[in-house]
Amino acid sequence: MSRPELIKDVVNSIAEYVPGKSIEEIAKKYGINPKEIIKLGSNENVLGPSPKAVEALVSTASKVNIYPSADACELVEALSVYTGLPTGNICASGPGMDGLLDNLMRVLIEPGDEVVIPTPTFSYYEIAARANGANAIHVAPEEGLEFDVAAIKEVITDRTKVVFLCSPNNPTGMLTSEEDVCYLLESTNGLVFVDEAYVEFADSNLSKLLLEYDNLIIGRTFSKAFGLAGLRLGYGLMPEWLKSQYMKIATPFNVSFPAVMAGVAALSDSEYLGKSISMTVEGRKFLSDNIPFKVYESQANFILVDVSPLIARDVSESLMKKGIIVRDCRSFKNAGESLIRVTVGTREQNEKVVSAFEEATAGSNLI
Ligand SMILES: *Cc1c(COP(=O)(O)O)cnc(C)c1O
Repeated sequence: MSRPELIKDVVNSIAEYVPGKSIEEIAKKYGINPKEIIKLGSNENVLGPSPKAVEALVSTASKVNIYPSADACELVEALSVYTGLPTGNICASGPGMDGLLDNLMRVLIEPGDEVVIPTPTFSYYEIAARANGANAIHVAPEEGLEFDVAAIKEVITDRTKVVFLCSPNNPTGMLTSEEDVCYLLESTNGLVFVDEAYVEFADSNLSKLLLEYDNLIIGRTFSKAFGLAGLRLGYGLMPEWLKSQYMKIATPFNVSFPAVMAGVAALSDSEYLGKSISMTVEGRKFLSDNIPFKVYESQANFILVDVSPLIARDVSESLMKKGIIVRDCRSFKNAGESLIRVTVGTREQNEKVVSAFEEATAGSNLI
């Protein structure tokens, strides 16, 4: 039995979020030993978590009978040191940055408000905004998949509440320049949300703009460079006027005590972070230089491969049959049929990825 009439119309009309494939799914589908599968479809950290974060989780386990501090103050203070911003501009969030997005949409969106989403990009902006009553206005990319800043400005209206910019963008790996972000901040009466989920792997970040603009929000996460995806921990950098309103509406105690303390420990583990970044930068170059297809230049912990004239579905399936999970990007709006996103792995994993792409070319009619 199905009762769609009991569900909000907009929720009935939203397409399901498509996550990367899991190890269990691929093991079962292709009869592969799960231990031999390499998971490079969800941009997780292949180094495992920071040992300091694991220690913090173990030592907080015996204290979970107590609610955490309401504003995750231990973590907010550590983040203030890490970002160089006052604690009044920082909100810890759970589950992950996705929780920040959902809470923000509940604070900001009135039915009929518009949000602007340049594509191809992370799909949860649309889900969170539309579920809260917004109309999503999508903007197609330029020829080389860069965000089309002029076209974004063109669709901004009096009803625009939020412009979403993912930088480095998922799935392209491209950074939006500071100049373009400022231009858009100045082009709207609404807010600009910059998703910096991958910023630790990039050459620059935008946190200093926070003190110059009162309509900028930056979303960050512990899921990627810090290796804590399973804990679901993120944070937002925002103007003080917004933080006070946000805190009224955010789900109470939305960061668990183990997550707060693991986050503090992860921030203190500069050795782990340094290793995670240097492995990624090196691996990114190795993959770009050796995969026999066009690879977009990336500032993130993944690369985007254009397998045309082959199609992403066939090539990603041939990789998955070999136990390498990658992301076929067809579910991303305006990404076309030929893009595959691959998380940067260890040297050994990257070598297997390159061989698998070479075999995919050999198996086709291409010479
Ligand atoms: C992974 C990812 C997130 C989600 O972060 P969580 O903290 O795990 O919720 C947000 N934005 C982008 C672009 C991502 O790739």
